[in-house]
Amino acid sequence: MKVLKFGGSSLADGPRIAAAGAIIREAAQVERIAVVLSAMQGVTDLLITAARKAAEGSEGGRIALEQIRARHLAAIRSLFAAPEQSPVIAALTIMLNDLEEILHGIELIRECSPRTLDLVTSFGERLSCTLAAAHLRSGGLDACYVDTRELIQTDESFGSALVQFPVSYARIQARFAALTGTAILPGFIAAAVSGVTTTLGRNGSDYTASIIAAGTAAALIEIWTDVDGVLSADPRLVPGAFVVPEISYEEAMELSFFGARVLHPYTMLPAVEKGIPIRIRNSLRPAAPGTLIGAPHHLESGRRAAAAAANGGRAAAAGTAGASGTAGTSGSASAANGHPITGIASIEGISLINIEGGGMLGIPGIAARVFSALARERINIIMISQASSEHTISLVLRSGEAARAISALEAELAMELAARRIQALERISGLVIVSVIGEKMRGKPGLAGQLFTALGAAGVNILAIAQGSAERNISIVIEETNHARALRAIHAAFLTAPATGAGSGWTDDAADSSGAGAATGGA
Ligand code: ADP
Ligand code: ASP
Ligand code: MG
Repeated sequence: MKVLKFGGSSLADGPRIAAAGAIIREAAQVERIAVVLSAMQGVTDLLITAARKAAEGSEGGRIALEQIRARHLAAIRSLFAAPEQSPVIAALTIMLNDLEEILHGIELIRECSPRTLDLVTSFGERLSCTLAAAHLRSGGLDACYVDTRELIQTDESFGSALVQFPVSYARIQARFAALTGTAILPGFIAAAVSGVTTTLGRNGSDYTASIIAAGTAAALIEIWTDVDGVLSADPRLVPGAFVVPEISYEEAMELSFFGARVLHPYTMLPAVEKGIPIRIRNSLRPAAPGTLIGAPHHLESGRRAAAAAANGGRAAAAGTAGASGTAGTSGSASAANGHPITGIASIEGISLINIEGGGMLGIPGIAARVFSALARERINIIMISQASSEHTISLVLRSGEAARAISALEAELAMELAARRIQALERISGLVIVSVIGEKMRGKPGLAGQLFTALGAAGVNILAIAQGSAERNISIVIEETNHARALRAIHAAFLTAPATGAGSGWTDDAADSSGAGAATGGA
């Protein structure tokens, strides 16, 4: 079994859906497949707009709904001959009428709860899958729509629900055992025990594909998108970004967690658990090999490292691979191509909260109370760093959560603030986290120094620094105005030098010049 997932970019319009259909039909001739689809590109955003505008009582809700209708109708007209169109239009119209009623309800009560928003956004994937399944059937494939809400069970954290794995895997297994045709499954959506619709978070269709793959014990997950694979940086910000042929699960997780949108960060969890490799591929260029994500034994570099280790390490010196890196280096892009790092990612819309005060010195428990207070509010701390003086704790989080975080901290630390043991809760907004990621960074102190030198030369000021405890990642916080400049400077320093083997582009023994005080690991 192979699971193929097509993102919204691969389903943007009729011709793109036809191209995805050709890839699906070809794959189905070779082996048993399951297909997970996103909504058509931009449709989830339109659904959110429709719900928000309806809640405001504005005309915008209806306009967005009509745009959604028009997008699907145009796709139907381009994909089906005239006599075939009406049953597909009828099926989608039933769903769009349902959606219209829900939006009308929102407009009447002037409120859209997270629960209702999940129901509204679920229509994107349900519409695209109904349409694509009909298209595939008209092309001769025995395709059937299988509603993921009957398979994936979650809690009721609407907007980003937590998957309950054992029950979900059991249902997937049972459903696929009884299924004869090719399943077309909506990504992103699931259901709680009560049956109410939930979603897995923005970009969640990648995660759905991985859950379905784990439940069916698939041999491979293919994520089809609009770029040639995982790139060394976001191609929209770094023109020189290049395709990374292979990376470890952990590197992929770090890259996506720190902003590489090409994959939902949770995608790797079921894949790691069941040992299923993931290949990222371009639906516009199906011949391109893409990026392979997996455990060392899945990856060329990992196999080379294992062979080198079996040879007593002698072989490592011969190859171009940086497999000569530290013992235990798992397969990774940086190991494979000689670059010291694998890639760069970044998250915009970040705020820094500094908790400052001499009174925190040596008093245990402040950090624990800070984290508990924010956890109670379900505020996600992306990164923390504490100066070794213990005078300041810096928390890095999304700007949208910063006001709530300050209120929670003011309440929790009210006594300390009143007694001036904590002098201030300072908030700085308009920031970006930039993360440098790679397995090969482990145990290489000189890299941090080179990173800061490159940023210094580009005139980029650093507000906070943290290194993940696995040393696979160094993250820095900078001002948004320096975003693209910083990414390009780092890319030029670490990723464009000719990759001639281990040690290219930097030296192992360069001194660590971070001077940043103790920094503790990111999330
Ligand atoms: P899909 O619709 O297929 O889910 P997404 O838009 O979610 O596609 O993700 C693909 C996009 O991610 C690419 O078009 C690219 O602009 C962006 N991206 C950001 N960082 C990276 C990266 N490191 N590698 C590849 N793509 C990236
Ligand atoms: N359609 C959802 C979104 O836009 C899920 C996905 O595309 O993966 O976030
Ligand atoms: Mg996506």
